[in-house]
Amino acid sequence: MTEEKNLKELREKLCYQSPHVWDKLDPDEKGAVETLARDYIDFISRAKTERECAEEICALLEKRGFHPESTTRFYKVFRNKVVAAVVAGREPISYGVRLIASHIDSPRLDLKLHPLLEEFEMAYLKTHYYGGIKKYHWVAMPLALHGVVVKGDGKVVKIVIGEDQDDPVLTICDLLPHLARKVQGEKKLKEAIPGEKLNVLVGGLPLPDSEEKERVKLGILKLLNDRYGLVEEDFISAELEVVPAGPAREVGFDRAFIGGYGQDDRICAFTSLAAILNLEAPPYTSVVLFLDKEEIGSDGNTGAKSRTLEKLYFDIVKVLGGSAAADTVLEMLFRTRAISADVTAGIDPFYQEVHEKLNDAKMGHGVVVTKYTGHGGKYAANDAHAEYVGWLRRVLNRAGVVWQAASFGKVDEGGGGTVAKYLAYHGMDIIDVGAPLLSMHSPFEICHKGDLYMTYRAYKAFFEAAE
Ligand code: MN
Ligand code: MN
Repeated sequence: MTEEKNLKELREKLCYQSPHVWDKLDPDEKGAVETLARDYIDFISRAKTERECAEEICALLEKRGFHPESTTRFYKVFRNKVVAAVVAGREPISYGVRLIASHIDSPRLDLKLHPLLEEFEMAYLKTHYYGGIKKYHWVAMPLALHGVVVKGDGKVVKIVIGEDQDDPVLTICDLLPHLARKVQGEKKLKEAIPGEKLNVLVGGLPLPDSEEKERVKLGILKLLNDRYGLVEEDFISAELEVVPAGPAREVGFDRAFIGGYGQDDRICAFTSLAAILNLEAPPYTSVVLFLDKEEIGSDGNTGAKSRTLEKLYFDIVKVLGGSAAADTVLEMLFRTRAISADVTAGIDPFYQEVHEKLNDAKMGHGVVVTKYTGHGGKYAANDAHAEYVGWLRRVLNRAGVVWQAASFGKVDEGGGGTVAKYLAYHGMDIIDVGAPLLSMHSPFEICHKGDLYMTYRAYKAFFEAAE
């Protein structure tokens, strides 16, 4: 009897435990989980492009007393797609900065430069997909169009079609199974729907009493001209994104999950935003950074590979009254402790063959700390140093955050990267911390509410850590 008890004690003392978030919440915390989940559903239902996210983030920052001209709680916007929010710390910035960086671009279908065509009295928009998608996800479902058009005179028109209850939606038609045997059924999954067939159905009414050809296309152009003042050439200077239509939803009889588009990486963007909105006088100057272009390799002047981060640091020093000399900024970058806030793959019980049970993330077991990313042989990885992981572990444990350490699939199975390695280039300590998802990169990604909440708690603890 005592021996049994001793073994139980020994197990508790020595063995790694990964509790379920739900077993660790006290009753009033469950209320906080639901409040956060409601706000999150609202956020991802409205903000479906990087520009819309940037706008939504700025609006929420303003509401909570952040202002571009403030010297204690301020934010910066770069090219309408990158946002950084800063709360001045109690310590001088030369003591270091705490940075959380996420990305607000998500996989989608972008319109081509000459998108509009008519075939068999039907009008279509041609697309070029952005980021890693499985093309079969995007057919035979309601789609919406979000974005901006810069007209010939320089005026910018914002467009959102397919979200209002009264709006029409758009769609990409799929082939009926009766005729798909050879053209799709005998092909590899990734070849069954080629990119050139991802054409969006947008019209079918020919203009009346006309000898003209392509009367449906002309009708669509007329409609776009009447409503937005557009001509066909305007598509060239537009960024119009085809995304899943409709709001995010609770999922499951018990409503444990949230399903919706763009949770990679807006779950980390939203929770890091929530963390800084609720942050008062942190020990160190705290920064949240929302980046663009992660899904296509972080290239371009709004991506993590650009010098936007250095520019931001120079701006921060100027606002906080330090010396804006290059060596000061370099020192600040080196003394930054950072989180690459991005999602990871939760174990899918029915595809266990790609997962490694002992080391992959479990849904509902809290925010995930990923020491290294990359693929086979740790290529292209940011591999956080043990000292830094040790520090973060203390921070999370002391704050009572439910977290799990996990990697990304079996060693030889594949892998993925985040912005971590591009920010590590600047010399900072950085590690991936974010929520696990199911159905990642699909139009309906799934998170667990408990993990959403613990991701928020982890980011808040990171900013509040005095050590
Ligand atoms: Mn991501
Ligand atoms: Mn991604």
